[in-house]
Amino acid sequence: MVDRMKRRSFLTSIAALGVAPHLPARSQVVPAASSVGSASRTRQAQLKITKVEILQVTGRNKREVLYLKLHAGRDLAGLYGPIDSEAAIFVDRFFRRSLIGQDPLATEAYWDKMFRASRHSRGSHYIMALSAVDNALWDMKGRFFGLPVYRLLGGSRKKVRAYASCLGFSQEPSALQAKARELKKEGYRHQKWFVRDRGPSHGPEGVEEDAKVVRLLREAVGDDVDLMFDAFWKWDLNYALAWTRRVEQYRPRWIEEPFQTANLDAFIELSRETSIPVATGEHFYGRWDVHKFLKADAIMVVQADPEWCGGVSELLKMCTLASVHGVNVIPHGHSIHAAMHVVASQPVEVCPLVEYLIRKMDTYYDFEKYQPKPTGGMLELPDRPGFGIELDESRIEDVRAVTWQQT
Ligand SMILES: [Mg+2]
Repeated sequence: MVDRMKRRSFLTSIAALGVAPHLPARSQVVPAASSVGSASRTRQAQLKITKVEILQVTGRNKREVLYLKLHAGRDLAGLYGPIDSEAAIFVDRFFRRSLIGQDPLATEAYWDKMFRASRHSRGSHYIMALSAVDNALWDMKGRFFGLPVYRLLGGSRKKVRAYASCLGFSQEPSALQAKARELKKEGYRHQKWFVRDRGPSHGPEGVEEDAKVVRLLREAVGDDVDLMFDAFWKWDLNYALAWTRRVEQYRPRWIEEPFQTANLDAFIELSRETSIPVATGEHFYGRWDVHKFLKADAIMVVQADPEWCGGVSELLKMCTLASVHGVNVIPHGHSIHAAMHVVASQPVEVCPLVEYLIRKMDTYYDFEKYQPKPTGGMLELPDRPGFGIELDESRIEDVRAVTWQQT
């Protein structure tokens, strides 16, 4: 008894100093630790979503964007954006009621419930809205546990490699080559260019012109930069076959969306006929779309977008599927917070790159304090909780909650 009393007072004095001794099991530490655990469990059990806000943010530059903010009481919120207006309208009109009272940590159960809640849940604006909600919930989870999302997902990569996505740059030969060289100098070892201005109606001359873009770029950057090409759905199988035969000698890393995603057979045929990897997926909705393409050996790169495909939760499942097939997931980058956290959570063999749309990203995150910007072609993951999104009041003129509810 005396020994036990001495031990207790020793522990009390050590605790007051904030020093944790290494003690054998079944000491006084056990009840203390379990009471901490039960406090945390109580806090988790009490978590409920109490308010859903779609915030219209107007910048001093008069540009307007939308963010989704989910509240769990007064002290915890999840924020995600900018989100597409189609997603915002669906969140407001179809998801708002289902969210109130929900456990924000139970993202799997909520996703599944909402996917089963509508006969039209398998695509388009419905699943874009589900993506926005899922991403805001992941942000809330990160803030609740005090960790960045990529850490919660089991990731350890503090930086991810970005590829330069060159939408909107001139393709006049000298301007094209100058820009490619400049990007290489900035550290981009991967560049994607667009061959979307021509197609089947331009015949063999169109194929020649689109092949010339590849040749000019390879000449400009040399052999140590990967070049990718995006045809933006504009081709048919014959045009794609002619182009790939013509440019295989320049070793493109991939040809993206030569056809509409609905045209699975054309993807299968092209993949069979060319050594150039075929990519698609920015319009994949849910894991089932990806599975269809993977089991048909139709693509080598999955480009699902975590803001359209079902959110972080769904993109993770796609990564697992892709890893089974030895295929890369390189998310589409119309936005970047969720994409970079998922990429950082995965092995580099599964997710080697994230898309960075140079011109769009210049102003896209105008309203945020910490704008993701690559340095030397690398994007650094934030150490702030959640996705690390914080609005920058100094650049904002007005923030107001908006609704599309019918009265
Ligand atoms: Mg694309």
